[in-house]
Amino acid sequence: MGVLDSKTCIVTGGAGSIGLASAKLFAAEGARVMLVDRDPAQLEKVAQSFSEPERVATHAADVSQSADTRAYLEATVKRWGRIDVLFSNAGLSGAIAPVTEYPDEVFDAVMAVNVRASFLACKYGLPQMNDGGSIIITSSIMGVKANPNIVGYATSKHALIGLMRVVAKEAAPRRIRVNVLAPGPVDNAFQTDIEKRLSSAIGIDATEMINRNIPLGRHAKPEEIARTALFLASEASSFSTAGVYMADGGMNA
Ligand code: NAD
Repeated sequence: MGVLDSKTCIVTGGAGSIGLASAKLFAAEGARVMLVDRDPAQLEKVAQSFSEPERVATHAADVSQSADTRAYLEATVKRWGRIDVLFSNAGLSGAIAPVTEYPDEVFDAVMAVNVRASFLACKYGLPQMNDGGSIIITSSIMGVKANPNIVGYATSKHALIGLMRVVAKEAAPRRIRVNVLAPGPVDNAFQTDIEKRLSSAIGIDATEMINRNIPLGRHAKPEEIARTALFLASEASSFSTAGVYMADGGMNA
């Protein structure tokens, strides 16, 4: 018996680091998982890495687009029936630059993937969800704190907390819980790329600087973030809604 037995779950950014680790944990706990990401070949590749391939499907989509959002939701319902867990997790880091130099088009692109996509997932996903389900939105430590040079990313991740709070109140009569998962820095390609660019911008080793600011003194493994996602997806968090769940090694203190 798994804690997500027979539950239908969608994970956007499902071919990426945190999304894939979470999807694997969900599937190991009995869920049927629809992986949504941009590149069909990459989706196919990661789907083959599951121990339970019969419970995994993929759908290529640009999650910032309405039509693509409706299409991945409909594909999931058609295959497995109504949705229990909607994990809106795809994300972009954007530029590393002070606000005065931050490119307009990069700001818009970051807001489209990090904010608009979660708005669309809630808007079109709620009518397709079972009562008692769970929506999880990936924000970040940069949703509750900020640093220089990441205005697009930090703004988008703060915005998701507002989105989550509104939708949590609207969905509560159907017992659908809506929460934000806020990871700290993860030891993966997404964060390594940010830290390389940040190191060049500020002239010191950003990875070391960040580790000094994390009470637990290190980056997370994607599997550690996935365990918080599983908590929010499952009945273990049955009385938790409208919350911001940090998995950040204490960095928010
Ligand atoms: P990742 O790059 O491995 O995964 C992100 C995925 O989103 C990628 O697979 C990418 O293809 C997908 N994606 C991007 N734009 C898309 C679009 N328009 N349509 C569909 N898919 C799209 O990075 P990750 O670390 O797994 O990030 C997952 C989430 O966690 C993101 O929201 C990120 O902001 C957040 N986060 C990451 C860290 C970290 O340190 N890595 C920390 C805090 C929060």
